[in-house]
This record gives sequence, structure tokens and C-alpha cells, in this order.
Amino acid sequence: MKILVATTNPGKIAELSAMLGDGFQWLGLADFNGIAEIKEDGETFAENARKKAMGYAKATGLWTIADDSGLVVDALNGKPGVKSARFSGAKDEDRTLLDHKNMTKVLALLRGVPTEKRTARFVCCLCLASPEKILIETEGTLEGIIAEKEIGENGFGYDPIFFVPRLNKTVAQLSREEKNAISHRGNAIRKLKPAIKGYIVPS
Ligand code: IMP
Repeated sequence: MKILVATTNPGKIAELSAMLGDGFQWLGLADFNGIAEIKEDGETFAENARKKAMGYAKATGLWTIADDSGLVVDALNGKPGVKSARFSGAKDEDRTLLDHKNMTKVLALLRGVPTEKRTARFVCCLCLASPEKILIETEGTLEGIIAEKEIGENGFGYDPIFFVPRLNKTVAQLSREEKNAISHRGNAIRKLKPAIKGYIVPS
């Protein structure tokens, strides 16, 4: 059975295939030359995941898993939210894996905000769709606090400013395995796993 993962990021395909099993043939968008891009212009993570999963499933005729994720900061009324990737403007060449421009903007907006009001979460919504309908939707979160400065060098995006109190570390101080074990994306995939078994019998 073929499953399309609606991403051009090989890391995401590897993560899903490792956690959901290799009884499936995993494909990515790179396997479909010239496929029209579906825009992430929804107002929620769930809406974006749904839109991509349905759109690419219809375009390819394959069951498709799509995700959308980002950072939600309570003191910023939920921002950066669905705009997490482009919070400080469109992507440009000096954007690195750890997104210093976006982190600088969040830290500036939170200057003077005390620790107890710096609560935040990473959110990941996943959607599995067939070309006909949405089959499964899951959401995973990781709760934390926005640090006062960047700490650590692992990961990507906002990891260096996302402090996890129970580990006394930022996500950028965790190994890939430690992050996967607690992350919003890991949690969303772990919820998808039992649900997907009810639908699909791997060949
Ligand atoms: P996407 O869902 O891969 O498009 O991610 C959207 C954006 O959310 C990324 O570009 C990051 O800025 C942010 N983000 C999502 N997940 C993480 C994470 O695990 N660590 C740090 N930033 C993240």
C-alpha cells in the first residue's frame, strides 16, 4: 500500500515511516514531478493539514498524510501560530535552520514579560485523507516556556528559545531522540498509529 507524505522534507518522511512502520511504500512530493503546490493559507493548523491532505490525495489518487505545525505563545494571543515559519517576513537567504530572525522577534515582543506569563506550546496537526474523504485527524502538543535568550544548538526553528521545565532544558539542548520522545510531532504521530491500523492492512 502506497502512502504519500505531503512534504518535500525527507526528514519528515523518515520520521513518519520509522514510527508508523515499513509495511507501506512511503512517497513524498518529490516523487511527483510538477505537482501543483497547495498553499497553507488556513487560519488553524488543523485546517492547513486537512487542506493539504485532501488536495494532494485528490491530485495523486493516493492516501495522503499532511501536517502543519508551529509555535503558540499565550502572551502574544497565540502568535506566531500558523504564521510561525514567516513570522519575521518571507524566507530569505540569511534564514538558517535555527531561525534567529523569528526568535529575535518573539524575544523582543516578550521583553519584560515575567516567566510565569511566558507560557507557550508547540502544536502539530496531522491529517490522513483518501482521495474521497478525511480519514483521521490528530493533534500533538509540547508545553513549555519562552526563555529569555537562545540556549542550545540542536533542532530547528524556535527550538533554542523553547524551554521545557520538566527537563530543565530548551528543545535545542535535546538530542533528536530525546526531542522525538516528547515533541508535538512525535505525539501527533503516536496518536495516528493506532488509528491508522484500523484502516489499513499493510501488504
Ligand atoms: P511546518 O509545519 O513544517 O511548516 O513548520 C512551521 C514552522 O513552525 C517552522 O518553520 C518552525 O518555525 C515552527 N516549528 C514547527 N515545529 C517546530 C519544532 O519542532 N521546533 C521549532 N520550531 C518549529
